[in-house]
Formats: sequence, structure tokens, C-alpha cells
Amino acid sequence: MAENNRCSFSAANIQDYLDCERRYELKYILEQSWPAISSEPVIEIEDNIRKGNKFHYLIYQFFSDVPENALIPSIEEKEIEEWFNSFLLFHKTIQLKMAFPEFRLTGQIGEARLSAVYDLIYLTQNNEIRIMDWKTSHYIPKKTALAVKVQTILYPYLLKETSHEFLPEISLSPENISMQYWYPSAPNEVFIFKYGRSTHENHRVFLENIINEILGKKVGEFALTNNERKCGFCPYRSLCNRGISASNMLELIDEVSEENDFLIDFDLLPELPFDE
Ligand code: SF4
Repeated sequence: MAENNRCSFSAANIQDYLDCERRYELKYILEQSWPAISSEPVIEIEDNIRKGNKFHYLIYQFFSDVPENALIPSIEEKEIEEWFNSFLLFHKTIQLKMAFPEFRLTGQIGEARLSAVYDLIYLTQNNEIRIMDWKTSHYIPKKTALAVKVQTILYPYLLKETSHEFLPEISLSPENISMQYWYPSAPNEVFIFKYGRSTHENHRVFLENIINEILGKKVGEFALTNNERKCGFCPYRSLCNRGISASNMLELIDEVSEENDFLIDFDLLPELPFDE
């Protein structure tokens, strides 16, 4: 990892560090290529990722003013069509003044650089801002599990710190920010996280502390996770002597649905490029 990249942080790489320090070290500092498949069944998982990317791209096109009646005929798969129809109904419920789809923000925290790509940021008629994140995994987590994800912490934090750059005419207070995860396969599940001044301060402290902790470690000081179940889904397990064969992620999703500390997020798995 180039030294300047070592000072660059996203929700994905901080989440990797929290899941397993060694995984962070292998992936982002040593830039170790993945020696094994991360989990079984490969085809189903790749299929989930591919469908998720297509769905994200459809919504990006929708908010880029491609007409709905041009998008619908382009959908070839039943599940994506159902997701998109769910989205169209959901979209009617939001009061949207301005939309920023697939929007990248970057900012600083101390010497470190923060970055995030938002599925959608939208401004309401009341000048409130909602961060939307589309989740296409079939497993619907508990709200408490989503609350502790780094994404839930970093996204509103970075938005508050940088909103003056893309909305200079609006003085945005943390109380006017919220974040919502929305699952097209469970459109009535509401996962909204309100933001506020004290939450913003807590998030700043969390991010500063965790980034300083990461930057303070030298190669060789990153610990292997104590939760060896995570290793079954990690491509580096052969390098850590944590087994050779991949665990079955789809079975695990049934097994751990009650746990908050072991949430597999299909949307954080490696992205396949959009199909143009
Ligand atoms: S195999 Fe386990 S210990 Fe090694 S990097 Fe992966 S999660 Fe961490």
C-alpha cells in the first residue's frame, strides 16, 4: 500500500479493520492478492452481487432522468424487476427537492482522508437531507446491527462536514440529517437513523480514535480475529492457518440471524462493474 493510501479511509476499510485487524493489514497495507475464494456457494454469491449492481445502476439512471418507461423494458430478470417496482412505489413516498445519486464525498479528519460514495443523497422541501443506501441482500438484519456499522457512522459524519461544498446555500445542522437503509426485498422494513449534534461529536471521536489506532500500528502488529468463524468467509484464511475450505455464506445467514456481531453484508462484497 502506498503511504498516501494508508491515510485514506472508507467505511469498507475501517469495517475490515474492526472485523479483523490482520485482514486490514493484508488487504490495504500489504496489498496481498486473495489466495482463496471467500465463501461458498460462489455462483449464488456472484449472482447476488451482479443483481445488486444492476439494481443500483437502474436507480442511478432513474435519478439521472432516464424515463421509467425506458428503464423497465431493459430489465431482463424477474427479481430485479420486482425490486425496481418496489423502488418505484417507495420513490412516490419521498418528498424530493434535489437528488445526488452515486455521489462521492471526500474530506479530512486530522491528517487522514475520508471518502464515501453515497447511493443517493436527497434534499427535501424542508431542506432536510436524507442519505439513502440500497441493500439488495436477501438477509434483512436487525436495526441494532445496522446501527453499529461503520457506514452508519461515517456517511452522515462526512456529509455534515462537506455539505457546504455542494449545497453552499444551505446551512445544514446535524439535526437535519438522517440515513436510511432500504431493502427492495423487504420494502416495508424501515431502517432510519436520525442524526444530531451529539451523535456527530460521538462519530467524530470514534473515527479519530479508530484511525489513530490504525495509523499507530506497524506491520506485524495487526492481530488475527478471535472469532474464527469469520475466517471461513475470508479469502486470506490459508495465510493465517485458519483452514482451507470456504464456509457456506447462505447457510450462515440462516444460522446467525440473531447475532449482531457477525453481519455479512453482500453490499460490501467486491463490486462487479455496472453493465452498461
Ligand atoms: S483468515 Fe481470519 S484471521 Fe486471517 S485475515 Fe481472515 S479473518 Fe483475519
